[in-house]
Amino acid sequence: MSKMAERKILAVDIGGTKVAAGLVTTAGKIVSSVRAKMAAHGSAADGLAAVCEAIDLALKKDRGADISAVGVSVPGWVDANAGTVLSAANLPCWKNFRLASELEKHYRVPVRVANDAKAAALAEARWGAGRGYRSVFYATLGTGVGTGLVVDGQIYSGRRGPAGEGGHTIIDFRGPVCGCGKRGCAEMYISGPAIARGARERIAKTPGGNSSAMVKLAEGNAANVTAETVAKAAAAGDSLARQVLDEMAEHLAIWLGNIIDLLEPDAIVIGGGLAELAISMLPKVRKHLCCWACSPEYEKTAIVKASYGAESALAGAAALWFSDAKIHDASGGKRKMARRKRSAK
Ligand SMILES: [Zn+2]
Repeated sequence: MSKMAERKILAVDIGGTKVAAGLVTTAGKIVSSVRAKMAAHGSAADGLAAVCEAIDLALKKDRGADISAVGVSVPGWVDANAGTVLSAANLPCWKNFRLASELEKHYRVPVRVANDAKAAALAEARWGAGRGYRSVFYATLGTGVGTGLVVDGQIYSGRRGPAGEGGHTIIDFRGPVCGCGKRGCAEMYISGPAIARGARERIAKTPGGNSSAMVKLAEGNAANVTAETVAKAAAAGDSLARQVLDEMAEHLAIWLGNIIDLLEPDAIVIGGGLAELAISMLPKVRKHLCCWACSPEYEKTAIVKASYGAESALAGAAALWFSDAKIHDASGGKRKMARRKRSAK
């Protein structure tokens, strides 16, 4: 094996409460990873220090590693060209924060920063379930709905980076108000909290709804019903739970129909905590798609489950360095990643 092939990327996945950091190979394999606490609610410097702690931990774990660059994924609005976090709801510590250049000062290797769903999209397109497809639309369904579009190995970012917020495209303009401020976003229908809300509404309006298996699984309290309880109850044959999921399947079809008609991707890759559930609904979603996609070739878009699970954004942070041919050796082989100088406290 050549020396080049042994070089690795230090990947960082920043969340609202935790930071994961790990080493990723050129083949997209996560060889080691660590977690540290995120300080999202303090000063910008506190947030940066927490990220550095995680990076230092990862470097300590793999001392001999030859690291050519750092990739960072962030759950928010990012100007990827400038390496700036514009804003992130779960990271109030940073507003227009130049994260890439701050990290470059400490570690003296180039740093790239991207939105986490877009980074995950890149990892899936390059190494995962979207491999071999020219255009890949990735959707992570969980607490929220994140999306990313990758065409010819590149993330589509729009004018300054925020493009690809498919979770906040509208399914019903009279629908419930979303966290983003708009009404009836896809996130209000196909996320975990949306499924739980749909279940609670159905339980409340159905005579005898409280005898549903969903309520039993939620320890007798409909307020505790989650997407997981709905899935379990539906699998056990509960008719109300099945109705909730049928509705989710139709909402998913409406949304994917929009995506297919607008983008006509070769593949749609579904990840996130609800990936398994969404993929299990595919026969129903496909049936509804004939009403909600008008492209004559809508059936040719593959819909597949993501390969990376909870580590998709970590792999994606590394993928930021593998999206074009010339970046395998980002530092030109001259620089070695510096260990951060600790300031005396
Ligand atoms: Zn929204």
